[in-house]
Parts: sequence; C-alpha cells; structure tokens
Amino acid sequence: MHVIFMGPQGVGKGTQATQVAGTLGLVHLSTGDLFRAAIKSGSELGSTLKTYLDAGDLVPDELTLRIVDARLDEIAASAPGGLVPGALFDGFPRTPAQAEGLDAMLETRGESVAVVVELTAPRDVLIERLAGRRVCPSCGATYHVTYNPPADGIHCDNCGTAVEQRKDDTPDAIERRLSLYDEQTAPLLEYYRGQGKLESVDGDRDVEAVSDDIVRVITGTTAST
Ligand code: AMP
Repeated sequence: MHVIFMGPQGVGKGTQATQVAGTLGLVHLSTGDLFRAAIKSGSELGSTLKTYLDAGDLVPDELTLRIVDARLDEIAASAPGGLVPGALFDGFPRTPAQAEGLDAMLETRGESVAVVVELTAPRDVLIERLAGRRVCPSCGATYHVTYNPPADGIHCDNCGTAVEQRKDDTPDAIERRLSLYDEQTAPLLEYYRGQGKLESVDGDRDVEAVSDDIVRVITGTTAST
C-alpha cells in the first residue's frame, strides 16, 4: 500500500508523515529529507541539489525521479523478499511529470498508489508556521519559536546542537515556494481526484486530531478497495 501526502509547505506534512508512517508501518519517503541528506554528505549530487533548495526552486523532474527510483530500490533490497513495503511519499510528487513518473515506476514493480491525502490550512497559518520554524541541523528535529520552542530556546532538546532557520524559510523563499505549490502542485490534486484516490483532511487543528483523521481516512479507503 503506497500513500501520498499532499499539501503546501507548512501544513504539517513532515510531522504527520512521521507519526502516521509509524502507526501504519509505512516507510516515510520525503524527497526534501533525501535531498538534504545528499547535500549534507558533501557529494557532487548534493552540491547540484543545493543550488535548487537554497533558491526555493524545484529540483528538475528527471533528477527527482531518478533519486526516488533509487531509494525505492534500496528500500526493496533491505525488505524481506525484496518487496517494497508500503511507502508514505511526503513532498513527492510535486509536478504532473513526477506523478506520471511515479505511476510508471510503481507499475513496473506491480504496485500502485492506494490513496492520496491532501492536508489543508489557510495561507496565513502556513506563513506563520514556516517563518517561525527552526530545525536541528544535526538530528533533523523541528521546532517553532512560539508553539514548540526547544527547552532553552536555543539548543535541540534531543542532541544539544543549536537550532537554526532553514535557508528556504525566509519570507522571499516562503512566498516563492507557496506560489510554486499553487502553480505546479495543486493541479495534481485534480489528477488524483480523477483517479478517485483523493481524500482531504483539515490540517489546521492539533497534531493528534489531524493524525487520527489521516489514519482513519487511509485505513477506511484501503479496507474498502
Ligand atoms: P520540503 O522539505 O518538502 O519543503 O522540500 C524542500 C525543497 O526540496 C523544496 O523547496 C525543493 O527545492 C526541493 N524538493 C523537495 N521535494 C521535491 C520534489 N518532489 N520535486 C522537486 N523539488 C523538490
């Protein structure tokens, strides 16, 4: 069973994906996390990716698809029987070409997307969440300056590293990423609605209420298919 999380940046996809993947035993596959890990590794691929991420631009489709395909192979290689366990895609696909590419790469494996969960929240809520977001550059934990600050306000509660603002969480980059979502990613909702796979969940509520709803929607949908 493969699940896609869709929604604009700041809607809580990452937080919810971690929680829901754990509850349902899915592998969390976040392209943003994959790209940041490649950048951190200092590889040549990482430095190519960095130019796109720093500018808040989308990584080209062909490169994104290649990286996701390789990750699915890695996941399958480490799974019993070589089968890809259910994946929870977070931040991918982001363009129509990526959605078609994903369908094709799952089809060659005899698999398909079961359900697409769209998380929603008003734009002013998204901007406030993104502008206040802080991340730990070491372990990846996320915080918010107002709603979820580190205990001492500066250092990560898990590993003690000073938290920082992502380069793409500045006002200009936020505006750019939200516009890109409207232009390029929102039309994907229609693609999946047309396939009868789209479910919407209100993401402007507390974390548990949202994740309960998501799990209910996913298990309800997959039980009836
Ligand atoms: P995220 O962590 O999902 O907010 O992604 C951070 C950045 O990674 C985005 O602003 C893009 O530059 C890049 N990125 C992540 N996922 C994709 C994708 N599916 N296609 C293209 N670029 C992506």
